[in-house]
Amino acid sequence: MVVQKFGGSSVEDADKIRQVAKIALEHRIDGKVAIVLSAMKGCTDLLLQAAKDAEAGKQSYLQALATLEKRHLEAARDLAPGPAHGELRKTLETQLRDLREILHGVELVKECSKRSLDLIAGFGERLNCQLMAGYLTAAGYEAHYIDASNHFIITNDHHGAADVDFDATYRAVDARLKPLSGVMVITGFVASTSDGRPTTLGRNGSDYTASLVGAAIRADAVEIWKDVDGVLTADPRFVKDTLVLDEISMEEAMEMSYFGAKVIHPSTMLPLLERGITLRIKNTLNPSVKGTLIKQNPKPHPYPITGIASITGASLINIEGSGMIGIPGFASRVFGALARVNVNVIMISQASSEHSICIVCREAEAPAALAALREELKVEHQAKKLKDCELVNGLEVIAVIGENMRGRPGITGQLFSSLGAKNVNILAIAQGSSERNISFVIESKDREVALNAIHSAFLGTGGQK
Ligand code: ADP
Ligand code: ASP
Ligand code: MG
Repeated sequence: MVVQKFGGSSVEDADKIRQVAKIALEHRIDGKVAIVLSAMKGCTDLLLQAAKDAEAGKQSYLQALATLEKRHLEAARDLAPGPAHGELRKTLETQLRDLREILHGVELVKECSKRSLDLIAGFGERLNCQLMAGYLTAAGYEAHYIDASNHFIITNDHHGAADVDFDATYRAVDARLKPLSGVMVITGFVASTSDGRPTTLGRNGSDYTASLVGAAIRADAVEIWKDVDGVLTADPRFVKDTLVLDEISMEEAMEMSYFGAKVIHPSTMLPLLERGITLRIKNTLNPSVKGTLIKQNPKPHPYPITGIASITGASLINIEGSGMIGIPGFASRVFGALARVNVNVIMISQASSEHSICIVCREAEAPAALAALREELKVEHQAKKLKDCELVNGLEVIAVIGENMRGRPGITGQLFSSLGAKNVNILAIAQGSSERNISFVIESKDREVALNAIHSAFLGTGGQK
């Protein structure tokens, strides 16, 4: 069986839902296909805002509810006219009523816990999948609605972006899907703890749901259908003349997504890598294009690099002074302090003189990181062995990625001279020992100039948009 995931932009209205259903039906193997759907475009944002408004006592949450109601009920009218309409409408109205009651509860108690927020955030997926299953049934096909927050994808209680219990999830998914045939319509993004409390996999988490389902049933392949022709060499919103990548390795895909390429959720590849399942990125709007195949041992890529990705809103913290030279355990104290306040370090760079270490993290986490480091290094600072930690905000981490960079001299030189030619100032550089990735930090204002300069230097004629 194939597992297909369709994102928000692929399922934003009745016409697109019809198109998705057509693609899914065409890909049934032995009469079966599993599809994972996101919420209709914009609905998760709307739900999160509604929860915030209800908590603050703002009546605007009712407006959000009306919008959700209109979009789903209109689509239902269009997709399932005639006798089947009443049934589908009733199902959707029941969901919408539950949502209204939950939001009203939030308004009354003036509090929306992270757990409640996970429950609310998942309504977009639940409404959309019930719509799809109702449409397929009305059209005479066998379809099953599966709510992944009902003992299907099992996580811990880290609300907002929970960690998956793989064994429990694989067992639950396999047991649930095995006896079914037809189209299995599964909600992306949502999950639950082992005792049934609602959680989510984090924003854009539906890609991850699809890979978990694929791994659980040892699917023939997992396909992620988007609004682009595949994985592109760079973010098309910033770089002109991007190229569609034919085949890339799982590791390259992981690096690209980890460093901000929004096209795939960063956790997607791991379950598939472990079970040797290939991943294909396809375009719902252009289904005949073959897309990008992500697999182990892809065919070699013709260019020296595979792609470029970037993370906006980064901060750099610089720790400097003689107090760390030759002292074993210094780095572990730094990372220990950051881990205690849950700061995720995107990149580190240490000069070989061991005179300075710089840590890059997301801007939102920088104040906590700075406070934790100051506390940890207080003694060295007071003894004047270290300067006060320095924080710089408003930065961009750029990662240049590709298997071909390994053992190939001259890439770094070419990279930094392309940036030098455009007067882009580089604040820190790091290269992983895998040589599959060179990452560096620049000011955010230089993002487009830098991305386009690198793209033209290595991947052809891209010019700035
Ligand atoms: P979905 O809603 O289907 O999950 P997303 O909007 O989350 O889709 O992701 C697809 C978008 O990711 C594309 O429309 C594109 O603008 C953006 N994107 C960023 N980097 C890349 C890249 N390297 N390749 C393809 N798309 C990218
Ligand atoms: N609907 C969720 C979001 O907007 C999950 C997803 O789209 O993958 O983040
Ligand atoms: Mg997405």
